[in-house]
Amino acid sequence: MFRFLFISLVFSVLALVSCRNNPAKNQKDKVITVTILPQKYILSHLAGDKFRINVLIPEEANHETYEPTARQMIETGNSSAYFKVGHLDVEKSWLGKLSGSNPGLKIFNTSEGYNLMSGEAHEHNGHAHEGGTDPHIWLSVSGARCQADNILKALTLIDPGNTSYYQDNHLRFMASLDSLDKAIRNILVADKANCFMIYHPSLGYFARDYNLTQIPIEQEGKEPSPAYMKELIDIAREKKINTIFISSQFNKQNAVTIAGQLNARVEEFNPSSPDWSNNLISIARKIAGTGAMK
Ligand SMILES: [Zn+2]
Repeated sequence: MFRFLFISLVFSVLALVSCRNNPAKNQKDKVITVTILPQKYILSHLAGDKFRINVLIPEEANHETYEPTARQMIETGNSSAYFKVGHLDVEKSWLGKLSGSNPGLKIFNTSEGYNLMSGEAHEHNGHAHEGGTDPHIWLSVSGARCQADNILKALTLIDPGNTSYYQDNHLRFMASLDSLDKAIRNILVADKANCFMIYHPSLGYFARDYNLTQIPIEQEGKEPSPAYMKELIDIAREKKINTIFISSQFNKQNAVTIAGQLNARVEEFNPSSPDWSNNLISIARKIAGTGAMK
């Protein structure tokens, strides 16, 4: 009798476990990990409800120095795929560990095929990311187009059954990027100034797309020396710079000091904002000096 009860108990527990496990396992399989929130913006437009999106770098964290937690590393390893930005230093440092412990993890580079700027070619900008590559493609419409193309390719590889769904979403998203690009051009066209200063140079591709010049305050990824600060103030005067960008995750003091010497505006923005398209519109308005206007 006891044996019978025990056996039926074991069977019902097994049945319960397998019922629970199947949907849970499928749910777990349907996760894609990305590095930053702007990638989530693009991916969610393309993937719709087909995947849950796991984001490694929180909105207020620094995208140059963030270290994922052990739990985040495990979640990434359990994902269907990992879509990296491509050239962020932090990705390089944690990807080795990640692929070492998850040899089967599919990793896609969302910057693949983009016309990247190298540190060498833009030496005057003082941009000094390791390997000389400017990683900030997500802060430009052209970069988002490239990321959307790469994401479409990746989605059709990992989930070929929904290819036409992803293709339709991609077409719609590309059309929305065309409108966004036009809106940004309309904001910038009225503006005479074509030069801005920024503490951490994350708007290089944005500047390239719209014929603007980005002058970084950061010197080789570090705080500028007093001599360089003096030089920057001279450059800013000469170029009649009236916008200096800072972001909350980076040092603000140097930008504030320069702005004080010049009577320039200090404009804050978040490179990791999840509200990606409005963030680009707001950057354009700040460069054009219409930042306070709606
Ligand atoms: Zn950066």
